[in-house]
Amino acid sequence: MPTVSLSFLNRRTINKQVCRVCQELAELKTERLCPGCTRIKALLRQRFPDAGRMMANVREEQCKRSNCLCSACDGRTLDPHPFYPSGPGRREIHFHPRCHELWLETVTGRPSGPEQIIDIS
Ligand SMILES: [Zn+2]
Ligand SMILES: [Zn+2]
Ligand SMILES: [Zn+2]
Repeated sequence: MPTVSLSFLNRRTINKQVCRVCQELAELKTERLCPGCTRIKALLRQRFPDAGRMMANVREEQCKRSNCLCSACDGRTLDPHPFYPSGPGRREIHFHPRCHELWLETVTGRPSGPEQIIDIS
């Protein structure tokens, strides 16, 4: 009588975790971010290399318009979202709420929110 192997059960336990920014369940990359957030953060670093200095005297405001172009991921916004008004040598920038969180991390250089590790393996 053949023994039934249970190894196929183990194969399903991929190391998935909840992204700390968008709460999506995914195989996380560095900084406990999902592939999507990792990409957005890389784009932000690339587009705004001096983000910290740029944000020194700027206050965040709420944009009530829809269909703005997100400065991080180039997607269109649908809901109210944060934006920064234009200033000397700076265009207006609009962000999705999720992209804005990544933006704040880019500005401060450290992760936002409490450290928590949710391991669903
Ligand atoms: Zn994410
Ligand atoms: Zn806007
Ligand atoms: Zn975005």
